[in-house]
Amino acid sequence: MSAQHYDIVIIGAGLSGIGTACHIARQFPNKSMAIIERREKVGGTWDLFRYPGIRSDSDMASFGFEFKPWYSEKVLAKGGDIREYVAETAREFGLYDKVQYGLKLDNADWSSNEQQWTLYTQHEASGESREFTCGFMVNCAGYYTTMTMVTGHTSTEKRASRARLFTRSNGRKSWITAARRWW
Ligand SMILES: Cc1cc2nc3c(=O)[nH]c(=O)nc-3n(C[C@H](O)[C@H](O)[C@H](O)COP(=O)(O)OP(=O)(O)OC[C@H]3O[C@@H](n4cnc5c(N)ncnc54)[C@H](O)[C@@H]3O)c2cc1C
Repeated sequence: MSAQHYDIVIIGAGLSGIGTACHIARQFPNKSMAIIERREKVGGTWDLFRYPGIRSDSDMASFGFEFKPWYSEKVLAKGGDIREYVAETAREFGLYDKVQYGLKLDNADWSSNEQQWTLYTQHEASGESREFTCGFMVNCAGYYTTMTMVTGHTSTEKRASRARLFTRSNGRKSWITAARRWW
């Protein structure tokens, strides 16, 4: 299988991946770059979650990109506005052409002899394997998996889906249910 070569490959097209790609595009315009994204859209967390009331906890002046200030009067932004902000940033920096959607990184090997990474990915919809090589790989895959949701209502179902039972200081027991599983 012949591998596509890039100077830099970024894993993940969420806030971190798009932010990283913008810095690289600005500072190293002559370097070739690809972004490998498992889903079909940019935005990561902010595209995945669409439940009513979803918003940031951080003030957007800190949370937004330094090179693209957040001009809305709202200090805490709605999820949809953050999604659009990430998408607009990707458009402005011409990154849409660089994202390869539907590809899951399965493995990465560093070769000291060749001074490059080999990335093993799978196009999940077709099952096709694709290889890439690159000098630098930047992992922006987020800190929890987007593919396994916590589901279930009964204790057994929740436990099976990785929710956690904890004991409060008053002795009562409660479930911590994260919407996504940690890595
Ligand atoms: C409701 C909510 C509110 C939040 N509020 C804040 C806040 O106010 N402040 C704050 O700092 N953080 C907040 N967060 C955390 C938020 O997740 C991060 O701030 C930020 O969005 C993470 O961006 P990321 O790009 O690192 O990861 P993600 O958004 O998770 O993006 C990672 C991307 O990598 C892709 N990916 C993962 N694995 C692979 C693979 N193997 N191959 C290919 N692609 C892969 C995923 O599909 C995804 O698109 C909040 C999270 C939620 C859910």
